[in-house]
Amino acid sequence: MTAASVDQAASRADELYANYMRHLYSCPPCLRESYCPAGTRMRTAWKRGQAAAMRAYRARAAEGRR
Ligand SMILES: [Zn+2]
Repeated sequence: MTAASVDQAASRADELYANYMRHLYSCPPCLRESYCPAGTRMRTAWKRGQAAAMRAYRARAAEGRR
């Protein structure tokens, strides 16, 4: 796991979060927390992106200890 792929995973997660937030503030159902299908999909994508970034980070940290 390289530093570049950790950064890549992190910026992907940021991008997904930005997309989701942009949607939230322009979507009345999502603003009321009764998420529309698009909002739900974006939230799921962001959570997955976060998890991927966390895995990349942990993998790099584990390599650093060797
Ligand atoms: Zn929505």
